[in-house]
Amino acid sequence: MTKDRKLIIAGNWKMNKTVAEAVDLVTQLKRDLANVKEVDLVVCPPYTALSDVSRVILDSNLRLGAQNMSEQNNGAYTGEISALMLREFSVRYVILGHSERRQYQEESNELIARKALAAHGASLKPIVCIGETLDEREGNRTEQVLETQLKGSLAGLSAHQMEETVLAYEPVWAIGTGKTASTEQAQSAHAFIRGVVAALFDDAVARRVRIQYGGSVKPNNARELMSQPDVDGALVGGASLEARSFGEIVTNSI
Ligand code: PEP
Repeated sequence: MTKDRKLIIAGNWKMNKTVAEAVDLVTQLKRDLANVKEVDLVVCPPYTALSDVSRVILDSNLRLGAQNMSEQNNGAYTGEISALMLREFSVRYVILGHSERRQYQEESNELIARKALAAHGASLKPIVCIGETLDEREGNRTEQVLETQLKGSLAGLSAHQMEETVLAYEPVWAIGTGKTASTEQAQSAHAFIRGVVAALFDDAVARRVRIQYGGSVKPNNARELMSQPDVDGALVGGASLEARSFGEIVTNSI
């Protein structure tokens, strides 16, 4: 499969894995995926495992991502972790605005935009998540919701920063539910998202930006999803917790 944009597949481990388990998983991934050159591979362990995982993947084709960060660089923000702190562990990517954070921490598009700017300020590439709920889809509001999330979460980014940002389309109803968007639903949302990026920036930026699909991606549906013209990778939750299933998603996508 040839696409101008390089696929990017990231595993979001969420609040799972002790340090020992994380090291074990990433050691297996490093061995199993050592020959993969066609896809950018990213693992996003919890903060507590970043340091050890970072050491294991040194000199490998795996890149490190975090699951969240503060919009502030330092100061009296108890419990927060800044982009500069993540850089100390050679973190390259950071997931921002995951639907779980939008839901449980009430993160707004405006906050996500500030975090995205702070991430770029520290040379981290944000993976900005957007997606509609089931109610919104059934109420035919998917495009309106995506457009509002994109306009708000990408506010203030330069064209260059936009190109260095990864978008993740994650329909909320498909996350952790075993329900996957059909290839038509995914492609149509991705094409719409690319159109919004073109309107907010320009066609060249929209052509370059990578848009991942997320929502119950598994080894058996990865190939079909990744073969859609506007799907440039995957953000994988549950299936990224085992080396075998994450590895199969990667190899089935190439
Ligand atoms: C996610 O949380 O980003 C996700 C896509 O989860 P899952 O693959 O488990 O649906």
